[in-house]
Amino acid sequence: MADIIKLLPDHVANQIAAGEVVQRPASVVKELLENAIDAGASSIKLIVKDAGKTLIQIIDDGKGMSDTDARMSFERHATSKITTADDLFNLNTKGFRGEALASIAAVAHVALKTRPEGAEVGTHIEIEGSKIITQEVCATPKGTSLAVKNLFFNIPARRNFLKSNSVELRHVIDEFQRVALAHPDIAFAMYHNEGELFQLPKGNLKQRIVGIFGGKTNEKLVPVQEETDILTINGFVVKPEFSKKTRGEQFFFVNDRFIKSAYLNHAVTAAFDGLLPDRARASYFLYLKVDPATIDINIHPTKTEIKFDDEHALYAMLRSTIKHSLGQFSIAPVLDFNRDSELDTPYDYKNKGVVTPKIEVDRTFNPFESVPAPKRGAQRPDDYEKPDVTGWEKMYEGMESQATAGSTVTFEKEVSTGNMFESGLNTKAAAPIASTAGTQDESSTYQLNKKYIVSTIKSGMVIIDQHKAHQRVLYEEFLRNITVKESVSQQLLFPLTLTYSTTELALIEELKEGLENTGFIFGLISGDILEINGIPTSITESQVPVVIDQLLSDLENEVPDSGFSQTDTLAKSMAKSLAVKGGETLDSLSREHLVNSLFACKEPSISPTNKKTFITITGDDLDRKFK
Ligand code: ADP
Ligand code: MG
Repeated sequence: MADIIKLLPDHVANQIAAGEVVQRPASVVKELLENAIDAGASSIKLIVKDAGKTLIQIIDDGKGMSDTDARMSFERHATSKITTADDLFNLNTKGFRGEALASIAAVAHVALKTRPEGAEVGTHIEIEGSKIITQEVCATPKGTSLAVKNLFFNIPARRNFLKSNSVELRHVIDEFQRVALAHPDIAFAMYHNEGELFQLPKGNLKQRIVGIFGGKTNEKLVPVQEETDILTINGFVVKPEFSKKTRGEQFFFVNDRFIKSAYLNHAVTAAFDGLLPDRARASYFLYLKVDPATIDINIHPTKTEIKFDDEHALYAMLRSTIKHSLGQFSIAPVLDFNRDSELDTPYDYKNKGVVTPKIEVDRTFNPFESVPAPKRGAQRPDDYEKPDVTGWEKMYEGMESQATAGSTVTFEKEVSTGNMFESGLNTKAAAPIASTAGTQDESSTYQLNKKYIVSTIKSGMVIIDQHKAHQRVLYEEFLRNITVKESVSQQLLFPLTLTYSTTELALIEELKEGLENTGFIFGLISGDILEINGIPTSITESQVPVVIDQLLSDLENEVPDSGFSQTDTLAKSMAKSLAVKGGETLDSLSREHLVNSLFACKEPSISPTNKKTFITITGDDLDRKFK
């Protein structure tokens, strides 16, 4: 038999390796930022176009590369960071595998300009799919500029697999923030499509956090500090009253590397025990320093997990340190952002006069009020009032015309069909609506447990889940509006001003067009302010923050195999936050509207999240039950 084993050509091998290192624009951003830090940069600039799909450029003022090194850097396993295997146990650089540049160059158009200190001229190299196109001398500032264009240009399947710009941008910003938070002593800037997203001068940790998450963050932070033989803890937790329901800033850094750890997260959550509002998540920025010999950072380029030798001790220490800080923040001096103390600790409270802890009572809290359904969206108790749900039927205004078209289920018209519930057997569960009780109720629908709508059809009866059904109706309506662009806005007398973090605003900016097609009119979007001048007629002003929060959290949690398109996410998310919930009483008109609109939908039987919207029970089913 002839020999059949061949060595893969380099460019093929590189492309295969790239699959591991480069999954999306954010992976490129991470690798390049880390290279700039390893090069000792004091200022790093990230420029991104189309969420990194068109361009990712990193400009640093680090040590640069010589002519030969510049060429070598694109070879696989070419690294300046380790020389022997022993170096692996004594790492103080982020990279060492020598794979990133080779991998990136295999799947993109790359342009490198670099000049080391002292050299008169620099080197300019262009590579496309591992092939060197240009190598020439050039004038360039000291440091390195690396531009990665048209990622996955030669792997269409990978390119198509990328998600919407808003989702990819979210990942890019996440990586940027993690690196920027780990290195407050380095200046960072980030630009997206010519707009400036972040401008972070070098400073202390608190200034960095505030630079990223906005000025209001300052007053929310509680310092955390502890030093023991095995561990140093520094950083901040966010006061419990500012915790968020669906989004939260949760950052652990171990020896300046961002890591994820469900176990340590649990320790923090345990420290907040009893302090967090229902379903809220703790936010924190915690920096742990441990002896590198006692951890095994999984150095796979895309992994952020870590193993500690003595996890239990860390858990206990973290928990008690945070508990201690939280217990003291009410008597800690107000933290002054301008003071240049990197980590104000509350430990000097002994020198201060005693301040009685404040007890805050929420007088509007009513435990008997109907509980909002889970995942209603992050509520921001401080800047908006409870949505006015009683006016929900306004959403149907103008929809009557479509309501009966294409209906696939025929409803009986006779009033008598409602008699089933008037027998007195089940008066509690099926409550004909008060407003119509006593008068002649022409309705043939009933509400069951304030959750289901029961109606009769020719073959028997149909039981509709009001929340899921309404989601379907709104989803199709929004989808139509977004794609056909024919929605109506109501101009607001006074513009609505909401505050969001830079990241959140960038995401909103990405979705702006879609939102405008549903009827939103935006004014100024800058700093941390979002100004809204007009809203869709189908929502009330107080629902706006709910809708936007839900949208942001849906984008964040979007799972890889769910809705690829941004339009779809937008429509789903708006439908979810605006749909009438279980527990809300519907009058007969609203019920009828909902039923008619549901069956006028293209796909009435399933909700946008693929749940049943209704079930039918036929006469035969009933006959069988009574046998
Ligand atoms: P690694 O970071 O694992 O060494 P990379 O492929 O990321 O591998 O980079 C290869 C080499 O190129 C690095 O070891 C470093 O010497 C050089 N290099 C990469 N980026 C920069 C940069 N921004 N400034 C200076 N040198 C760089
Ligand atoms: Mg590297």
